[in-house]
Amino acid sequence: MMLKPRPTEIINRDCPFCDMVHDVEHHIELSTLPIKGDEVECVVEYFRCPINKIDGEDSWTPAGMLDENLLRLRDSYRVKHNLLTSDEIVSIRKKYGLSQKELSDLFGWAALLSPDMKLPISKMRHTIVFYVWLWETLRLHWRS
Ligand SMILES: [Zn+2]
Repeated sequence: MMLKPRPTEIINRDCPFCDMVHDVEHHIELSTLPIKGDEVECVVEYFRCPINKIDGEDSWTPAGMLDENLLRLRDSYRVKHNLLTSDEIVSIRKKYGLSQKELSDLFGWAALLSPDMKLPISKMRHTIVFYVWLWETLRLHWRS
């Protein structure tokens, strides 16, 4: 997930603009992108053909790379707005052995209990971890 911007590399691979293998540019750079009516900075990865353009477009992003770009964009948005990133959510979920459904119920509940979700990120993490702990404790209590 962690991807740092780096100078453009030239690599030899198939190019969808030329429909053949040749030297193309591999970009990993910081970019400002729109998301949910906002703009956030995030690292984007893509390829560019230095030879051909189709409809003024000369760059492309294969499916898997596109997914990673979107994930990083959403994470950058979450960090900017003091929300947990996808990696943090997964690690909390694993730590407490919660299903996706259980965790999303819990987040809905946490959002109801603390309408002011614009806490500093460190405080926000503690708040969520506290709710997870509380919920887990209650669940164990209900079971017994
Ligand atoms: Zn090309």
